Amino acid sequence: MPAQGRIATALLSDVGRVRSNNEDVVEVDPELGLLILADGMGGHNAGEVASALAVATTLDVVREQWPNLQHGEIDPASGLSREVQLLQQALLAAHAKIYRMSQTQPQCAGMGTTAVVCLLHDDRMAIAHVGDSRLYRWRGGQLQQITRDHSLLEEMVARGHYSREAANQRVRKNVVTRALGVEASVDVDLLEETLQVGDIVLLCSDGLTDMLDDDAISATLAELAAALNQAAQALVDQANARGGRDNVSVVLARIDAPFPR
Ligand code: CA
Repeated sequence: MPAQGRIATALLSDVGRVRSNNEDVVEVDPELGLLILADGMGGHNAGEVASALAVATTLDVVREQWPNLQHGEIDPASGLSREVQLLQQALLAAHAKIYRMSQTQPQCAGMGTTAVVCLLHDDRMAIAHVGDSRLYRWRGGQLQQITRDHSLLEEMVARGHYSREAANQRVRKNVVTRALGVEASVDVDLLEETLQVGDIVLLCSDGLTDMLDDDAISATLAELAAALNQAAQALVDQANARGGRDNVSVVLARIDAPFPR
């Protein structure tokens, strides 16, 4: 069953306190239960081009394929849901477009973008992501990071070079090891998670999580769970109050009623 009418959503993207332009793009389609966030990179405003292209292409692909989607089915070959396969297809299409433009337009050379996309369906969420933009699920007062960053810091920890505490102090943050549009091919990470009534899904760019720790984010969601627009504004305001060193973007979705298969 689609999530239409059973979720509430809010979204906000802010330039922050230091940067002169906003390379983040956020989008939701509440009818499809689709949430999208992209954080672009590249000089001469090319980052904005990459993130905008990622979001527009994802939206186009999902809307175009939606009528033909075998909702709630599992692909026997891969074991993946049709929904998560659709998100993978959308991000790969976005990657191809961005890469082609970066190869053919000199002012776009080297551009790229993170992307995290989520499709709410059948009391579940399909997730696809590349880069260090994150998806969290807030449930019963607990905030859980669902995605794992494609970043140098996260790789160092995963390989056992550093403890998380040491890596936080010694490894540069914001060094992304995977992005859409940068190299000829890209791996998209795919995930599926359950949803319950009362859950809040948060997509955010690193401009939020570099400024606010998980406890601060969780406390804000607890306080403003019933007022998602205010929650989005409060998260952005807090990131800006702590320096706003980067663009700050959030997408929120609250599950208000079940939508089982
Ligand atoms: Ca950023």
